[in-house]
Amino acid sequence: MSAFVDLSSEQLNPESIVSFVRAHVKNRPTEDLLFKVSRRTLELYCGNKPEDAITVSNQELAQLNESLKGSFNARDFLKRSIHKCTACGRVLTFFDFFQAGSKRHGSDYISSLLGKDGYHLHVQKRDNKLEIACTQCGVKNVLAPGGYDGPNY
Ligand SMILES: [Zn+2]
Repeated sequence: MSAFVDLSSEQLNPESIVSFVRAHVKNRPTEDLLFKVSRRTLELYCGNKPEDAITVSNQELAQLNESLKGSFNARDFLKRSIHKCTACGRVLTFFDFFQAGSKRHGSDYISSLLGKDGYHLHVQKRDNKLEIACTQCGVKNVLAPGGYDGPNY
């Protein structure tokens, strides 16, 4: 389960929200937190997107846009840390996370979170090990908490 907190009001100070969210990343919560934030807050939080971040392929992007009924571009679905599938060596992308999340929580739930207006920051709960099935070979990879960003993640 996760808690959803809306901090997207433009009246809130982005610097304060960034330190608030970072405090929760440092001292991880006992359940997942999903913060809805303003674009200014997201930009401040993410800074310049790293050039070496992993983007989704065009084919994956097409599927994501179809699932989310959106028109995002590949740069909107970034994953920062590199994880290779232990079986086939595929570098996991946001798409693998999206598919795993859809399976676990139902695609409607994930789409309703990601497809909503606004921007989201996701803080994983303490000791959360993510099981991500590789979308190429189906083998499950167990990942320690790491960063991944969606258009709204
Ligand atoms: Zn694989």
